[in-house]
Amino acid sequence: MYCPFCSDSETKVIDSRLVGDGNQVRRRRECLSCGERYTTFETAELVLPRVIKNNGSRQPFDEEKLRSGLLRALEKRPVDLERIDATLDRIKHRLRETGEREVGTRAVGELVMDELRELDDVAYVRFASVYRSFQDVNEFRREIEAMDKHKAEKES
Ligand SMILES: [Zn+2]
Repeated sequence: MYCPFCSDSETKVIDSRLVGDGNQVRRRRECLSCGERYTTFETAELVLPRVIKNNGSRQPFDEEKLRSGLLRALEKRPVDLERIDATLDRIKHRLRETGEREVGTRAVGELVMDELRELDDVAYVRFASVYRSFQDVNEFRREIEAMDKHKAEKES
């Protein structure tokens, strides 16, 4: 993204929101070189951030991989495909909304856990145990406790 005022390419996103049925992202940007602010409209499909893997390599966001991860966590759980797809859409929506060009796998994982927590307890624990690769039983127990607390707060 080049600054329309000075053509510098270093800009900072200061606000980012989805518009037009979520097909576009409207961004306020600030040029780091001249300080001017301007607005861009970008096609949402193009702005799913790339994923920074733990080893530092960058990869395009892989929707199929995310979907199969969700399906694995939800195996034999009473959640229909429609809701799984809606969850997938929400995760992508939230990723676009960050306005980031790149996100760490960790941030993606946290988003997924957020959604699964609402969707299905068992799937959440399955995903979390793989994703966080719990070091020991205590860590696992803390996660379960955090989940119970979250549920209690929601119900109160
Ligand atoms: Zn500028």
